[in-house]
Amino acid sequence: MLLDHQVALITGASRGIGRAIALRFASEGADIAFIDLKEDEQMLATLSDIRALGVRAKAYVADASEFLTAHNIVSEVINDFGRIDILVNNAGITRDTLLLRMSEQQWDQVLTVNLKSAFNFSHAVAPQMLRQRYGNIISLSSVVGEHGNAGQTNYAASKAGIIGLTKSIAKELGGKGIRVNAIAPGFILTDMTKALGEDRLREIEKTIPLRRGGEVEEVAKVALFLASDLASYVTGQVISCCGGMNS
Ligand code: NAP
Repeated sequence: MLLDHQVALITGASRGIGRAIALRFASEGADIAFIDLKEDEQMLATLSDIRALGVRAKAYVADASEFLTAHNIVSEVINDFGRIDILVNNAGITRDTLLLRMSEQQWDQVLTVNLKSAFNFSHAVAPQMLRQRYGNIISLSSVVGEHGNAGQTNYAASKAGIIGLTKSIAKELGGKGIRVNAIAPGFILTDMTKALGEDRLREIEKTIPLRRGGEVEEVAKVALFLASDLASYVTGQVISCCGGMNS
């Protein structure tokens, strides 16, 4: 299997893309630690679905946007699992509105959850990955981080920030056996995008060359490629998974 004997830590994995990545990594033999904001049915269902694949799994309740919390969780995960080979910075939110209507709070919330969380966890896992002289950091950016989107100034800025963070950490840690990459999904069918409503979904689908929204499993397959030895010479890159909507 592609991820045998590896330990992956994934943020925001109770549902959506994070959950799909957790299940895909587990199906390739990785033990899974994941965090999410609350212990609810979704968290417990994801935990039991991962364990059903025959790997070790533990869920941690935490807010990924808190710096000290991130460091404490990473220490707990190392204590529980012994190492961390893969970090997936997935936790993310939207607070969409046009620039002139955007409040300071909407800007701060999105930047803090989407970008600061990725800094927090990358900062917290780096010492362990350096000790291991092995590691893999994957962060969820977005096509709107590369191209912008009306009504998403805060979100697009956070996702553009993920690209700068990824490319910089890749340069800092590449010599120590640590690869760092980002995925830029396009329009993926999750709670985040379903909130737009059926009519808007149909309109957006018409603008996508593949004429459909992506499935969470399709993003998870890209994450698996980046996390595995199949991507052993890939670092500092942003891989789009968008049905062609970035071209
Ligand atoms: P989702 O369905 O809304 O799931 C996001 C998950 O993150 C939820 O489990 C949520 O917890 C958790 N979360 C939110 N804030 C958190 C925090 N502060 N600490 C810990 N966990 C937190 O989103 P998704 O569509 O799967 O998106 C996953 C990632 O892909 C995000 O970074 C998103 O920006 C990116 N992305 C998505 C798309 C898309 O089309 N869906 C496109 C491009 C990029 P709760 O359940 O408690 O809310």
